[in-house]
Order: sequence, then structure tokens, then C-alpha cells
Amino acid sequence: MPNPNTDSPPHKEQASLHPFEHEEPIQVKQFRVDDLPAGKISTLNVEIVTDALNIPITVPVIVAKGTKPGPVLGLTAALHGNELNGILVIQEFLQSVDPGALKGVIAGVPVVNVPGYLFNQREYFDGFDLNHIMPGKREGKRSEVYAYRLVNRIISQFNHLIDFHTASFGRINSHYVRANLAQVETARMARMQHTQIILHSVARDDCVLPRVLQGSRYLS
Ligand SMILES: [Zn+2]
Repeated sequence: MPNPNTDSPPHKEQASLHPFEHEEPIQVKQFRVDDLPAGKISTLNVEIVTDALNIPITVPVIVAKGTKPGPVLGLTAALHGNELNGILVIQEFLQSVDPGALKGVIAGVPVVNVPGYLFNQREYFDGFDLNHIMPGKREGKRSEVYAYRLVNRIISQFNHLIDFHTASFGRINSHYVRANLAQVETARMARMQHTQIILHSVARDDCVLPRVLQGSRYLS
């Protein structure tokens, strides 16, 4: 006879892992906004590379496409694979978006560095930091090829980008934004985050995205 005071509670059904788990993702080699239906949220798995078993390593993209045309806002997280906070931010935010009332597109990439995320490590699995090898190379180290395809298959679709990071181990960060405040639109985006601190920062050439996006706006 189980003792309700000392025995473990009966096993409960696990809660859903994430808000879009019930969606059947579409597997594609290239994220194209034009291919997706308007007024709807779509989930994609974009093939980036294959592993030694020839199994594609895919990057998840959750896309809310509005009914009216407009710019594409990209939200990315876990470029450093052990920085997890932004994953939930993107999932929960997109769950709150009504694509029927949206002008333009919001595309969330909850995990950018998939191998790093699976190994719970900052870098790609060859040990290189993806944030410092952008925009990658068509042929090169595995991390460079991964970065190149990320840029070409997903990130090139964005007009604006917010890249979420989490404090490194042993550090406590205030909620802050780093952005190039010399760009009027970027500065406006930075102020809209309502953070305690806004840090003016011109991204280095090898950092994620500004160089490849050419005129797009970038925050992190
Ligand atoms: Zn980071």
C-alpha cells in the first residue's frame, strides 16, 4: 500500500516541451519568406550540414508571416550553444504573435548553434566561436562552412536582427543592449528594448551579421 506521505508522487505526463511542439516542421534547404503562407505561423527545419551518418543537422525557424507585406525581423538565440535564455524568449514571444494582425514577418531561430547546444558548449563542435568567423566560408573549417550556410540559407532573409545572448558562467549581466547607435534605426530599436543600459558598439567585421546583412539593423 503506498504511503502518500513518503512515496514519490505518481508519474505525471510530461508537459509539452515547447509551444510549437505540436506543429509538424517543414524540412527545407533554404528559408524563403515568399514560400510561406501569409497570416499563419510556420515551423521549418533548415538543413545546414550533414553529420557522419549523412543525417542533416537542421536549424529550427519559427515564422510568423503577416497578411500585409513588410520587413523581416529576425530573432536569434544560442549562437553560443550554452546560452539558453533567449530560446524561451523567442518561443514565448512568437506564441503571443497574431500573424493576422501583423505587417511584415517575424522569424525566430531559437537555436543557431545546434551542435554547440547539443554539447552544452559555447563554440561549434570543432572548437571555434561562430560569432567570430562570420560570414563564414563556402569551403573551409566545419564551423566556417556552417556559418556560411547559416548566413546564406537563413539570415540573409532578415532586414533587422536581434541576437539574444546570456551571461557567461560566473557572471551576472544586467539586461542590456549592444548596438551601433550611429545608425538611426538601430538606435531606435535599442531604445525600444527598455533596457537599463544601452552600449554603443560597432560590430567587428567577423561578428555576426552586420557585414553580411548590408544595411540591416543589428542588436545583441
Ligand atoms: Zn553569447
